Amino acid sequence: PAAAAVTVVTHPDVNGPRLAERPAIEVHGIHKRFGILPVLNGVSVSAQPGEVVSMIGSSGSGKSTFLRCINLLEQPNDGRIVIDGEEIRMKKTADGNAVPADMRQVERIRSRVGMVFQNFNLWPHMTVLENIVEAPLHVLKEERQAAVDHAHALLKKVGLSDKHAQYPGQLSGGQQQRAAIARTLAMRPKLILLDEPTSALDPELVGEVLRVIRQLAEEGNTMILVTHEMQFAREVSHKILFLHQGKVEEEGAPAEVFTNPRSERMRQFLARTF
Ligand code: ADP
Ligand code: MG
Repeated sequence: PAAAAVTVVTHPDVNGPRLAERPAIEVHGIHKRFGILPVLNGVSVSAQPGEVVSMIGSSGSGKSTFLRCINLLEQPNDGRIVIDGEEIRMKKTADGNAVPADMRQVERIRSRVGMVFQNFNLWPHMTVLENIVEAPLHVLKEERQAAVDHAHALLKKVGLSDKHAQYPGQLSGGQQQRAAIARTLAMRPKLILLDEPTSALDPELVGEVLRVIRQLAEEGNTMILVTHEMQFAREVSHKILFLHQGKVEEEGAPAEVFTNPRSERMRQFLARTF
C-alpha cells in the first residue's frame, strides 16, 4: 500500500525493456566519517531481486555502519543509494556533507527496507503478536484483522505459532530473533538487511535462526547479510563482500572468494575464522 505513492526516479541503467530486472538495491561510493574518523571509504554493492549478498570482515571494518547507511539510520557523507529503482535524493550542506533532501522519501523507503539486528530489538512491553502488527497497523495503515492474520501466518513460518501471546522476555534468544524476523517480514520489505543476526545467541540456538534465514533466501527474498557464519554465508549467498577498513577488499561468488581469495588480507581473515 505505501509503495503506491512512490515516484520512481528514472535511472539510466535500468530504463526501458530491462525495467523488470532492475536491481533491488544499488549503492555507489558510500563514504561515512564519525567526526574525523573515516569509517566507510567508498563502499558499493548491488543486488538483483532474490539475491543474497553477505558481508564479512573483522570487527570495526564498517559492516554495521554500512547497513545503517543503506536505510539511513546513519547519514552517509557521500554516495548514492537506489532502492527498487528509487534514488534517495541527497543535498549538500554548508560543511560539504550530503544529507537526504526529503525526509518523507526516506521514511517511505525505510518502510520498505527491513532490518534485523543482533539484539533482536523487540519491544519488551508488547506481546510477540503486538510487536509484529505494530508497524503494519501504524505505518502501512493495514486493517487490524488483516495485520493479525498476516502475523499468525508469519509466526507459523518461523515456527512460533504457540508464542503469539508471550512477551519477549519469556522467549529464548533464538525465539526472540525468529519473532524479530517475523516482525520484519510483516512490512513486506523489498530488501532485508540482517546485521549479525545470530551473534548474540548461544551456540545451540544459532541453527534455528539460520534455518529461517535460509528459507527466506530460498523463497527469493533479497537480503544483505552481515555474518560471521562463514559456512552459512557460503551456502546461501550469491555474492560475498569482504570489508577491510571501510573498503571492499574482495568481492565475488562464494566458491571463488572462499576457495581462492585474491587478497592476502582475506586469506588471513579466513585463516583466523575457520
Ligand atoms: P563492524 O560492524 O564491522 O564491526 P562498525 O560499523 O560497527 O564495524 O564500526 C566501524 C567503526 O566505526 C569502528 O571504529 C567504530 O568504533 C566506529 N563507529 C561506529 N559507530 C560509531 C558512532 N556512532 N560514533 C563514532 N564512531 C562509530
Ligand atoms: Mg557490526
